[in-house]
Amino acid sequence: MDGSRRAFLKTAGCAILGAGLAAPIARAVTTGAVSPDAMPGELKAARWAIVVDVKKCLQREDCRACIDACHVAHNVPLIKDPAHEIKWIWKESFKDTFEAEAHPYLEKGVAGKHVLVLCNHCDNPPCLRVCPTKPTWKRSDGIVMMDQHRCIGCRYCIVGCPYGSRSFNWQDPRPFITTGIRPEYPTRMKGVVEKCTFCTERLVKGLPPACVEVCNKVAGPGTMTFGDIRDPGSEVARMLKDSFSIRRKPVLGTEPQIYYLV
Ligand code: SF4
Repeated sequence: MDGSRRAFLKTAGCAILGAGLAAPIARAVTTGAVSPDAMPGELKAARWAIVVDVKKCLQREDCRACIDACHVAHNVPLIKDPAHEIKWIWKESFKDTFEAEAHPYLEKGVAGKHVLVLCNHCDNPPCLRVCPTKPTWKRSDGIVMMDQHRCIGCRYCIVGCPYGSRSFNWQDPRPFITTGIRPEYPTRMKGVVEKCTFCTERLVKGLPPACVEVCNKVAGPGTMTFGDIRDPGSEVARMLKDSFSIRRKPVLGTEPQIYYLV
């Protein structure tokens, strides 16, 4: 084998190896569909959940730190038209969020206020069952994922979700990313659905969801807590054992995994 042929094969081999490694890493960042064993330092759980302490959150009623952190991190566009807006985490009135729990004698500090809502990463997600092309699926740790590359924009999942946790891009979202596009996270295109993914791109780096991280800095520890609900020694398990909590529309049987201390 002459020198030039050997050099060519060496270069080609490196390129193929590089492409083989780059593809799973790119997929991990894009979709979070990565084996739990793939990344050293990755946060892992049998079942991820979030606990929101509503009273602590309401101490800073106008705070949007978690919403802004999430939307900046994920290139979520700011579209003011409510019919076209994109939301990964937002605030809803307590009355509309917890229709069954709200009553006239509920402590005034909670009843007239707004609470944080996001995808509940349901154990039994109806959005997943109605999706015809399967861009949405549930990981073994319970996170309900969304791959925009396989979404055909039928919006069945939006109808299927009883919590309004999914948004549809009626237009190219990129011109509406007012904080500048972050190249670390993929932008979406017109005609696809998107939603919260519990920051799988951060979990693989050993980091908690962006909303939880910033909330604990701004509003104080324990306002939003992320953890493994199946681990009896975890903070989320301890909070749910020690305090009364509610979930959104549990009667529907979706088994939402966002818990609210009220
Ligand atoms: Fe699916 Fe909606 Fe449940 Fe999220 S909250 S998993 S989008 S049904």
